Amino acid sequence: MMVEPSPEKIEADVSEWVSANWDPDLTVAQWWSMLTDAGLSHPMLGEHAFGRGYSRPGAQAVSRALKSSGVLGPPTGIGTMLAAPTLAEHGTQEQIEHYVRRVLDGTDSWCQLFSEPGAGSDLAGLNTRAELDGEEWTVNGQKVWTSGGQYADVGMLIARTDADAPKHRGITYFAISMHQPGVEVRPLREMTGRAMFNEVFLNEATTNDSDAIGDRNDGWRVANTTLMWERASLGASNVAVPSCMPGSIAGNLDKRAGDIVGRAVGQRGTSGTGIGKGLFDFLVAKAKSNSAWEKGSTRQELMKLYSLLEVNRLSGQRARVPNQRSGAEGNISKLMMSEQFRRFRDVGSSVIGSDAMLMGSSSSTGGVVQGIALFSPAPAIYGGTDQVQRNIIGERVLGLPKEPGPPSTTAFKELPKNG
Ligand SMILES: Cc1cc2nc3c(=O)[nH]c(=O)nc-3n(C[C@H](O)[C@H](O)[C@H](O)COP(=O)(O)OP(=O)(O)OC[C@H]3O[C@@H](n4cnc5c(N)ncnc54)[C@H](O)[C@@H]3O)c2cc1C
Repeated sequence: MMVEPSPEKIEADVSEWVSANWDPDLTVAQWWSMLTDAGLSHPMLGEHAFGRGYSRPGAQAVSRALKSSGVLGPPTGIGTMLAAPTLAEHGTQEQIEHYVRRVLDGTDSWCQLFSEPGAGSDLAGLNTRAELDGEEWTVNGQKVWTSGGQYADVGMLIARTDADAPKHRGITYFAISMHQPGVEVRPLREMTGRAMFNEVFLNEATTNDSDAIGDRNDGWRVANTTLMWERASLGASNVAVPSCMPGSIAGNLDKRAGDIVGRAVGQRGTSGTGIGKGLFDFLVAKAKSNSAWEKGSTRQELMKLYSLLEVNRLSGQRARVPNQRSGAEGNISKLMMSEQFRRFRDVGSSVIGSDAMLMGSSSSTGGVVQGIALFSPAPAIYGGTDQVQRNIIGERVLGLPKEPGPPSTTAFKELPKNG
């Protein structure tokens, strides 16, 4: 087995590669294609899936090198975070060469068609059906909270393919084209003012049998890989490299890569995976520039937020030491991430005082704290709610009794349903 170079060596090698290859006049598509060929678009994936097989610290070293070199980072979004690693593990080599390549070089943007109006925490209770006729599946149902659905070229779909089987054993995982008449995407506006997520109606939508990922009716296992990557990525103290939305709809592929970097540098905010050190430093600088720093209670709250960020970072490091894993690391870092957002909201609002009532350019912070404050309930919900993370830790790690319910062998069609 190849030994991974040290993070310092990775950082130095990638910086050297960037010096030899970066040109701000390249288009976004050309640069992303070069990153993919070099195994740098998603270095945690294996070589069979255009990666380098690096650990998370190795991948973070790559991000640090890209960031400090001032170049455009790999495509952002759910395709890179969830679809590529899921397909790299469960897809056929043909699926990997087609779909994973197109995620990593930004050709396609993906969305996650998991949650339904009646199936969120109880995801395996989903009702969207897929029926096979010859080589083609026909899909009917409704998904909801689909982040980035309005920009997606392809969806990660889980659908019921056998209602006679127990609920976890009659689900299949598909890649489905979002560009078809049977797929209707309706944006949902949040209190931040943005419409980040959508309802997606699937009405006689189709997908080919060759686009099933993993075995038929074994989609729950595949979905768990997606959910595992989701939890592990959220709250993983990722290094934010300037980037932009991939895919055919967002319209960035033909833009000059250097222009995108120029626009992204200096913009503050969060990608939703945690509160970075940059945001914390921004808050401290803001407090020092106004009377907030003089209040002992504000300094104390800032220190609590700093401690939380540090504890999360150090827990991540401990988790990499052999025999130090409890199995709950992903759940715990996800819980810590929700807490970071709540603490940033509270201490941030007290640092900026009455400015917190203004938005965007009307505010002296450009609306950074306000945007995060309005977004702060969301991290405790997406990727599995805080309560569900605690249930998982209780049942699977601490060995507490399971929640009462019908036996796990009950056929899906026999289970009690709402409405
Ligand atoms: C910003 C955002 C983006 C999202 N993006 C996506 C996406 O791209 N794709 C996608 O498929 N989904 C997405 N989701 C959906 C998200 O995964 C679900 O909202 C989440 O799983 C909770 O499901 P629910 O909303 O149906 O709530 P419910 O499951 O109905 O839960 C309601 C409340 O009951 C609690 N609860 C439920 N069951 C239990 C239990 N057994 N024990 C204790 N408490 C319980 C929950 O914790 C919660 O507080 C997104 C959500 C948000 C907020």
